[in-house]
Amino acid sequence: MKRAVVVFSGGQDSTTCLIQALDQYDEVHCITFDYGQRHRAEIDVARDLAIKLGASAHKVLDVGLLNELAISSLTRDNIPVPTESEDGIPNTFVPGRNILFLTLAAIYAYQVQAEAVITGVCETDFSGYPDCRDEFVKALNKAITLGMARDVRFETPLMWLNKAETWALADHYQKLDLVRRETLTCYNGIQGDGCGECAACHLRSHGLNEYLANQAVVSASLKEKTGL
Ligand SMILES: [Zn+2]
Repeated sequence: MKRAVVVFSGGQDSTTCLIQALDQYDEVHCITFDYGQRHRAEIDVARDLAIKLGASAHKVLDVGLLNELAISSLTRDNIPVPTESEDGIPNTFVPGRNILFLTLAAIYAYQVQAEAVITGVCETDFSGYPDCRDEFVKALNKAITLGMARDVRFETPLMWLNKAETWALADHYQKLDLVRRETLTCYNGIQGDGCGECAACHLRSHGLNEYLANQAVVSASLKEKTGL
């Protein structure tokens, strides 16, 4: 029995990871973190999608303590979210978020005897978040394996894909329309194509348009990177 835990926010990236995990593992457990995030609708979206796609279990974990400590435009209503990518670390960065989430997901994986923790972090369409970097994920994976005395493998299937290739990956599993319609990536909390104005919406729609305009080319580069 191959089991995996997916760190699941209900956004495009983690939903695409979930779709792939359901194809690759016998049993997939989703974990979603409630940290009092600005777009709280994402928790409901995650709940609906986990059931709809067929996850074996879905845990929503209260990590309100993160909100108390980490000041960011995603944890405070009075800090506006950016409309364009900025140089340096954007104000949507929640310090420690992935350190905490991946650690908690690994504890969950230990409990349910999952061999892998899957996260949709990505270095290619880099938002400037240091905790999305491959080097960080590998270092934390090593620390956790040492600290638990059990092999838990962190998988980052989107790490080297750009957004267009992530759309191609969803399409590979015949789920492009579902991901487009039902996921929530927008910093302003609007499902599907979103507000169209925030940095997350720009990145998402730019990738989708690039994929739709060059499907064969993007699918070929996905195949080259992933073998799919
Ligand atoms: Zn938006």
